[in-house]
Amino acid sequence: MKIVAALGGNAIVRYREEGTAEEQLGHIDAAVAPLAALVATGHQVLVTHGNGPQVGDILLQNECAKDAVPRMPLDVCGAESQGMIGYMVQQCMANRLYAAGLDLPVATVLTLTLVERSDPACARPSKAIGPYYTAPEARALGASERWTMREEGGRGWRRVVPSPAPREVLEVRAIRALFESGAVVIAGGGGGVPVVREGDGRLVGVDAVVDKDLAAERIAAGIGADLLLMLTDVRGAYRRFGTAEEERIPVMDAAEAERLLAAGEFAEGSMAPKVEAAVRFVRGGGREAVIAHLDDAEKAVRGRAGTRITA
Ligand code: ADP
Ligand code: MG
Repeated sequence: MKIVAALGGNAIVRYREEGTAEEQLGHIDAAVAPLAALVATGHQVLVTHGNGPQVGDILLQNECAKDAVPRMPLDVCGAESQGMIGYMVQQCMANRLYAAGLDLPVATVLTLTLVERSDPACARPSKAIGPYYTAPEARALGASERWTMREEGGRGWRRVVPSPAPREVLEVRAIRALFESGAVVIAGGGGGVPVVREGDGRLVGVDAVVDKDLAAERIAAGIGADLLLMLTDVRGAYRRFGTAEEERIPVMDAAEAERLLAAGEFAEGSMAPKVEAAVRFVRGGGREAVIAHLDDAEKAVRGRAGTRITA
């Protein structure tokens, strides 16, 4: 089977950890192990991943060093995070395949995702990124950098950026060619760097973030994947999530998923984009999408764990 596996950011950095390279590599290796096992049993796998905590760290590094080295804009930081995480996934995957006696190329594709300035999401910044600031710092940055700042639950102020819909992953033909040649491809990290196309055809990076699950859907559709596997830190999509009556949904069709989305069962910015990505994927001809816990990857591929979404 052709599988696109999307790894959640929590799969890589955990709360109450420092986030050292060793810690991140350890978590990435644990996340990659079941995917390498899928490759070893004959599946073709493309890996995509989140970048929230890593890009947050890069932004903080920029902030701390801004008097010595100029701050890099968000699109450049996003590209940096793709390289950093892609490298770790690539190293772990290559080592796992080598240990399994498999001689397959592993390659990371730095990915740009086309978005549109006219997307209504661009007019309302929604996604908090980077470090926390005091109110005076936030006011100063709002004025000097023209950032939109928002107070976050008593912890301070953060920059917020738009999260527009991914129209197209620009490298999809290159990704497809690599994938079809038998390579294990890592692409679409952090949803890809959001870019817009100007009137003269030039690409320009924008200060925004693309949801990685929605970008994963674009890649999955573009390479003709059978399965979109979204691996996260919960056992699937739940009804009445977070209440005493919460209940995992073992399987739902696209129409049911849309009904539950409209009813607000899935939180914006976390579970909702996974379900939306699943619906788009199966409506576009994909066989099935599964939302499952990272530890259940292999079971989920066999339909024995998580939430399956079918056409
Ligand atoms: P990832 O980094 O894997 O994309 P997210 O935090 O974006 O992780 O999404 C997973 C989170 O979605 C879960 O940790 C859970 O708190 C949240 N969530 C919101 N609504 C639901 C729901 N209805 N069912 C399950 N999880 C939900
Ligand atoms: Mg997410």
